[in-house]
Formats: sequence, structure tokens, C-alpha cells
Amino acid sequence: MEKLGFIGLGHMGLPMARNLLKTGREVYGLNRSKGAEQRFVEAGGRAGGSIAELTREADVVMTCLPMPQDVEAVYLGDNGIVQHGKEGQVLIDFSTVSPGVVRKVAAAAERKGMAFLDAPVSGGTVGAETGTLSIMAGGKPEIFARVKPVLEALGQNIYHVGEVGSGTIVKLINQLMVGIHTQAASEALVLGQQLGIDSDTLFPILNASFAQSRILERHYVQYVAKGRFEAGFAIKLLHKDLSLVNQMADEQQVELALGRQALSLLSEASQTELAGKDMSAMFLYQQSKLLEANEG
Ligand code: NAD
Repeated sequence: MEKLGFIGLGHMGLPMARNLLKTGREVYGLNRSKGAEQRFVEAGGRAGGSIAELTREADVVMTCLPMPQDVEAVYLGDNGIVQHGKEGQVLIDFSTVSPGVVRKVAAAAERKGMAFLDAPVSGGTVGAETGTLSIMAGGKPEIFARVKPVLEALGQNIYHVGEVGSGTIVKLINQLMVGIHTQAASEALVLGQQLGIDSDTLFPILNASFAQSRILERHYVQYVAKGRFEAGFAIKLLHKDLSLVNQMADEQQVELALGRQALSLLSEASQTELAGKDMSAMFLYQQSKLLEANEG
């Protein structure tokens, strides 16, 4: 069985890497902060060392990193994956970045005889823990077929979309809707409160009506109802995604009226103490705007 490497043991990466251990494969994990590596070792993984060491050992190297610049640094930087990779190796990036970044990484990897898949995921930390993520992959079909058994340990709905970059395009379109739905859910619940209908009353009715959505359910059940907004999926990451989707639309001269509005609100919220909170904390941001308006 192949040896696996996994770089980026964060909210998503750690539970994903733990699920890979359950396949009986050897998994070597690496993370910038050492606490996550420790938790991975406690789950039965190997951790520590450098990107160079991990890349030399693993047959399949996977990453789940926050920002496009992190992906570029880990793959293309000095002592990065591409520098230390070997012919025949498969690289899979689960991060959400731009189609341009994944194509650049894929081209550099291919020049060294490695294969690259962009394989962004959806389903949140719950999906990562339960191995039920949606995975949307771009790259050569034969490479996708080769690693599909590994992907099946992570996700339930696994799609090969097309060439490198196509998985990322689908993921960013998904995020356009996630961003808009998150804002819609926040506005609906805050408007209800302001009119004397609290979220506990409003949610079950909306959930049984045409306003029902997976985001509304996640937003209310996992966060608003509990009054706890720890990420999850951080506002600053959703801000990154909406920046990328708007940039992609601009390049195609497609006007995203709601996408642009969602980006603007996420950009404001990212400059507050809510930046590291879960995206459902856009509800708190909406409340704070109302408070400001009432005071003004
Ligand atoms: P996170 O910030 O929780 O985790 C990222 C991890 O990468 C951190 O532990 C960080 O220490 C590590 N890291 C960063 N640079 C590194 C480097 N150079 N070397 C080693 N480790 C490094 O982020 P996350 O929420 O797990 O998200 C990761 C990616 O997955 C993002 O692109 C995000 O948009 C995407 N995503 C997240 C979710 C979610 O619900 N959290 C869902 C789908 C997709």
C-alpha cells in the first residue's frame, strides 16, 4: 500500500489525516503549529520533520492549507514539495485556492514527472470527521482513478470534473453560494429578532418552508442556537474564497451583484475581532451593525 504524507493538520486536515490512518496506510503528517502534530501522533500517525523528509518518504503527498500563498510556498518554495519530489509521485491539494495557482503548481510538478490533482472539499469539519466530504477533483483521469481509493476514505461524493483547475472552479462556485446563503441566513435571523420573533421560533418555520437550506441549518443548529461561534470555517477563509470567486468572475467579465456584496461584508467583518470566528458569526456582525445604526 502507498505511503501517504499530509501537510496542514488544521480544522480540516487533522480529521482527514486521521481518517486516512483508518485505511491501514502509513500516514506522515506535518503542521506549522506542533500541537496539531501531537494530536495526530496520539491518533497513531507519524509527525514532525520537514517538507523535504515527508516528500521523500511518501508516494502520495496531500495538502490542506489556508491561503493561496501557503500553497505556493509549500509546493514551489525553497525546500518545498516540488523541489524534493520524485518521478511517479502523486500530489493532491485539498485547499481552496485559485485555478491559476493550482495550474502553476501542476505545471511545475509535471516538469519533474509528478502528477497533481486539485481536489477541494466541501462539507465542513463535520464532513471531515465523518469521512463524508464532497470532493471535486481536477487532473488526469488515470491519476484520479489511481488515488480514488484514498479519496474514498475522506469523502462520500467524489467527482472528477476535468483537467487541473476544474475542481477549484466548481469549489469556488460552491463558495459563491455559501457566502450569499450565510449572509442571507444572518440577515433573516437578525430581522426576525428585531421584529420580536426570536431565532428559536423562526428557524423551524423557515426550515420547513422554501427558505430551507443546508447553510441556514448549519448556521442556526450548530452555532446561533448554542451561542458559540468558534470555527469551524473561519470568516477570514470565507473572505478569501469570495475574493477568489469575484476575481475569477471579473476575469470572465461576469457581473456578480450578490457575490460582490457578500465580499464587501466579509471584508468588513474580517477587519474585526470576528475574523477567526466561524462564518456563522456573520450573524453577530449583522447584529453589531444594527446596534451601530440604532445608536447613530
Ligand atoms: P486551518 O487554518 O484550520 O488549517 C490550516 C493548517 O495549515 C494550520 O494548522 C496551519 O498551521 C497549517 N499550515 C499553514 N502553513 C503551513 C506550512 N507552511 N507548513 C505546514 N503547515 C502549515 O484551515 P482549515 O479550516 O483546515 O482550511 C484549510 C483549507 O481548506 C482552506 O483552504 C479552506 O478554505 C478549505 N476548507 C475549509 C473548510 C472548513 O470547514 N474549515 C471546509 C472546506 C474547505
